[in-house]
Amino acid sequence: MQTIIEPFRIKSVEPLRHTSREERERILHDAGFNLFLIPARDILIDLLTDSGTSAMSTEQWAAMMRGDESYAGGESFFRLQRVVQDLTGFRHVIPTHQGRAAEHILFTVLCRPGHVVPNNTHFDTTRANIEFMGARAVDLPLPEAADTQLYLDFKGNMDVAALEELIQREGATNIPLVMVTVTNNSGGGQPVSLDNLAAVKAVTARHGIPLYLDACRFAENAWFIRLRDPKCAHLSPKQIAQRMFALADGCTFSAKKDAFANIGGLLCTNDDRLATLETNLLILTEGFPTYGGLAGRDLEAIAVGLEEILDPDYLQYRIASTGYLGRHIADAGVPIVEPPGGHAIYIDCARMLPHIPRERFPAQALAVELYRHAGIRSVEIGSVMFGKSARHELLRLAIPRRVYTQSHIDYVVESILEVNQKRDQIRGFEITEEPPYLRHFSARFRPLSPVPT
Ligand SMILES: *Cc1c(COP(=O)(O)O)cnc(C)c1O
Repeated sequence: MQTIIEPFRIKSVEPLRHTSREERERILHDAGFNLFLIPARDILIDLLTDSGTSAMSTEQWAAMMRGDESYAGGESFFRLQRVVQDLTGFRHVIPTHQGRAAEHILFTVLCRPGHVVPNNTHFDTTRANIEFMGARAVDLPLPEAADTQLYLDFKGNMDVAALEELIQREGATNIPLVMVTVTNNSGGGQPVSLDNLAAVKAVTARHGIPLYLDACRFAENAWFIRLRDPKCAHLSPKQIAQRMFALADGCTFSAKKDAFANIGGLLCTNDDRLATLETNLLILTEGFPTYGGLAGRDLEAIAVGLEEILDPDYLQYRIASTGYLGRHIADAGVPIVEPPGGHAIYIDCARMLPHIPRERFPAQALAVELYRHAGIRSVEIGSVMFGKSARHELLRLAIPRRVYTQSHIDYVVESILEVNQKRDQIRGFEITEEPPYLRHFSARFRPLSPVPT
């Protein structure tokens, strides 16, 4: 049997609204050609992000009714704590309202001006929170990973030799922690191997530096390890995830990713002294340590989601359906970041639209065209988002968990291939208005006239 069916059926539905091409022209114009500024009701298929957009299960909704809304010592917290400790082994489990709140607390407690924090690739909120403390965020991806077309099993790995060098250069006392992001989100959703984590751990342990996982997509990473590391083929996703966490001294986590929750985060550590400092700060900024900025019902949704996400049927479907989108467009000639990652497909727009120079934002141009043509929302990850430090001009198609069916994905494939047919006619953009930072959220654009051929 070839077809991998969605391992769920649908009990509650949300209508999608079609718009006409003329409507979409007007909507684009009103939004200054920035897809972040388009109301969600005007989007047919929304692939902006996989964060907080999951469909919750009947078990999650049922558990939410059980939410204990006590201010202190609510039962929902203890239920979540049991699930997280069983999965991660970490002694201290601190709930937060999002992943970035966990990051903010961790870096406030650990980082000082002049410090350096290495990561395989920092996610943007991680980098911003480190820089906010006056510390420096350094990316240490594999050098080969810069080639979007190269196939590597574990393209998200950290460059261990570069880590060793960095520690020699900066001094271990200036490095308060090392982080590894699984899967490597900004690096294309590519997995990190268990061997790489063990090698990083050997280096950090030798220098007495704690190792933290940015664990947002731990389950997708565990599934890739199961598929690609023969030593792990006989293990369950949960056993692999447990081995990943066992190599770390703590983690940050966004429950909006691999916990199927619409909100929530976690900060975990084995360090008692650190945990005290963290919970003191938590009380100031998030709430009492048994709810941390969330409602009791949110804690329940996360606890159930963390168990559901490790279901092999789900993970097989998840990774296969992302790969399905990637293979179908790549095999028809659309250049993507290879191999397909876990949560998203990235189109390499510098390759697809070579007639649009970087300063004219090729990935923004493709995002606009895909919306104009088919009502699909995607996101530019390139020179609009990162300015001159952008390494690639990518269009990300992130896939919300358990939300879209194969026919939705087939529609996305068809639409991209139709746009690809007339790619020569796609025009670049210039920015007409931009805020001082994080400009991609609110900048406005003007389409440029066709480049003369
Ligand atoms: C989403 C994400 C975060 C931040 O989590 P939020 O819940 O959005 O604050 C941190 N790291 C990675 C890798 C992420 O994908």
